[in-house]
Amino acid sequence: MNVAIIGGGPAGCNTARLLALYGHDVDIYEEHKAIGSPIQCTGIVSHSIVDHIRLPDKAVMNIIREVRIHGPKVSPISIRFKKPNFILDRRLFDNHLADLARSAGAKIHLGKKMTGLSKKGLIVHFGNKEARPDIVIGADGPASTVANMVGRKKGEFWTGLQGIFKEDHDDTIDFFPFIGTLAWKVPAGKGRVRVGVIARKDTRKIFDGFVKRVIGNKKPIEMQGGLIPIYDPRQNTSFWNKKVFLLGDAAGQVKATTGGGIIQGLHAGKILASCIRKKTDYDSAWKKEIGKELWAHMKIREVLDKFSPEDYSDLISRFRKRKLKSILEDIEREYPMDLAARLLLKDPSLLTYLRFLF
Ligand SMILES: Cc1cc2nc3c(=O)[nH]c(=O)nc-3n(C[C@H](O)[C@H](O)[C@H](O)COP(=O)(O)OP(=O)(O)OC[C@H]3O[C@@H](n4cnc5c(N)ncnc54)[C@H](O)[C@@H]3O)c2cc1C
Repeated sequence: MNVAIIGGGPAGCNTARLLALYGHDVDIYEEHKAIGSPIQCTGIVSHSIVDHIRLPDKAVMNIIREVRIHGPKVSPISIRFKKPNFILDRRLFDNHLADLARSAGAKIHLGKKMTGLSKKGLIVHFGNKEARPDIVIGADGPASTVANMVGRKKGEFWTGLQGIFKEDHDDTIDFFPFIGTLAWKVPAGKGRVRVGVIARKDTRKIFDGFVKRVIGNKKPIEMQGGLIPIYDPRQNTSFWNKKVFLLGDAAGQVKATTGGGIIQGLHAGKILASCIRKKTDYDSAWKKEIGKELWAHMKIREVLDKFSPEDYSDLISRFRKRKLKSILEDIEREYPMDLAARLLLKDPSLLTYLRFLF
């Protein structure tokens, strides 16, 4: 069976590798002339990534053991992770996944932009060229052409903007959850930091103000930006009689708390490859396995979106207590259901924040 994967990002390449290992004939079509370029990502991943892929040393720019969470009117709290986080070099990471896909037997066609998809006969168009696969996987990112062509309801997006600056750091991530949807200063190799903001609107203005606050008047050596889809559990990701599927950012498989989607795309790809192999239903399978966690991220986001500066300061002060802080240090943020349950058991007064859901 021939599978055409549109998009050579992490979700597409990892799924190509698995499907090729299962004996399928797999083609990846990537619109750019190189994998992993241009970069539109900060590359922070929790330790859970190693459940999905072995990380090559060269793709890891920093190993992070500590994060500072800032509040508007209080000093930051420091969380020391039991298991380290990683800052990825996305170009090297994506190329590593592409090499693994090639070694497993997948073919990668660079500079091939999908321009159309005909339902009848399942024909994928690339300008005046075409392919006739048995299955199409749309792993073509947040502005997915495949999703648009199969008539998926248009979702909502945030915009992410980040600059790379020359700046020394202490291998610690700084998060500012009260600025935009989220703002960050992240170590990115020796003497470099990535400073960024995600927001629903006015992203450039918020970014400029944030840079002034954490970096001063330095100019970035590079600017990057992109769309981040907002998770919507009502979206259908299996189209046309199990012949066209959406994956990763194209499917909105992104955490609404942080906008992160690398691990979710790898995980959903594993589920999709298994569903194609066993001829089982992908839409219900991924929603059962990772949908409930993404739903919890969405609910936490709904609460945070209603927070005032005082609420943020209150929350940060609560997390200063050892009994709550140790839970944050212990649990991977990919699993907010478990995190919320343990926090509420330790401190039921946190239930007060649920008022923001109503
Ligand atoms: C500023 C910013 C910071 C971020 N930081 C983080 C972070 O720290 N941690 C994290 O986990 N996530 C982060 N993300 C999100 C993360 O980048 C995505 O979730 C992840 O890249 C999704 O992987 P993917 O393979 O689904 O899609 P993508 O990585 O977007 O790959 C899609 C690929 O499809 C190709 N393509 C698109 N259209 C076509 C077409 N018509 N034909 C052929 N090819 C096509 C694209 O060129 C691209 O290579 C960030 C996003 C932004 C914008």
